[in-house]
Amino acid sequence: MNSPNPKPIIKAQNLTRTYSLGGSEVVGINQLDFEIAAGELVVLKGDSGSGKSTLLALLAGLDRPTSGKLTVAEHDLALASDAELTHFRRDGVGMVFQSFNLMPTLNVLENAVLPGLLAGKPFSQTRSKAMEFLDWLGLKGRLTHLPAQLSGGEMQRTAIARALINDPAIILADEPTGNLDSRNGQLVVELLADLNRTWKRTVVIATHSTLADSLATIKFSLKDGMIADEVGMRNAEWGKNEDRRNDIVIC
Ligand code: ADP
Ligand code: MG
Repeated sequence: MNSPNPKPIIKAQNLTRTYSLGGSEVVGINQLDFEIAAGELVVLKGDSGSGKSTLLALLAGLDRPTSGKLTVAEHDLALASDAELTHFRRDGVGMVFQSFNLMPTLNVLENAVLPGLLAGKPFSQTRSKAMEFLDWLGLKGRLTHLPAQLSGGEMQRTAIARALINDPAIILADEPTGNLDSRNGQLVVELLADLNRTWKRTVVIATHSTLADSLATIKFSLKDGMIADEVGMRNAEWGKNEDRRNDIVIC
């Protein structure tokens, strides 16, 4: 079996995030301990309010833990300086959100290119990389469309291109199918799974939906900010790591 690299790319120890609200304390996530090896496709389940978005925001360096330790791609995110966190958010992770979060006044290509330009990369190199991703994502014919001129599925695929532009090792997706119909939801999940299998990115998808269940290598269920269940899904089939890019039909 052709296993992914077992080195943990994400390690949480006693990871806790609480919020103070009107004098009382609300638990986001509570003393989580887990490791994720590079190359996994993690599906994070749990009811609304169980802590999925809180955890993803911590993994993305958008938020800091209240206590505990979190190491992601060799960055200690609990102790990182603001400058290190900014750098990590830009180059270490790519994020995909339920509501797409595209810049409304920029077209598809400009949205995809933007994080590369913000990272100081040369325009021509960033543009050609964006074109390659957008082509793979079936958006070659939509490059000059503004977000308002796209379907939900096209917006989410643009957001995936944007998430990839700085070559992050980790892609984090928070309810990426929440605003999509089931066909487009399935497509987005398959594209994220393909990033994992073919392009060897570690992918974490938080979702209520069952669309990703059969593609996961690990499933975590959160309940009240704690891990209620963890199931390793990897099997011999999964280990083949075959190139599936041609299996995905975008229409
Ligand atoms: P999920 O994404 O699984 O729906 P969240 O991570 O958004 O769950 O929320 C987990 C818990 O933390 C919920 O009880 C929620 O109300 C609370 N919470 C999340 N963000 C905040 C915040 N900024 N201030 C106060 N409480 C919050
Ligand atoms: Mg959420």
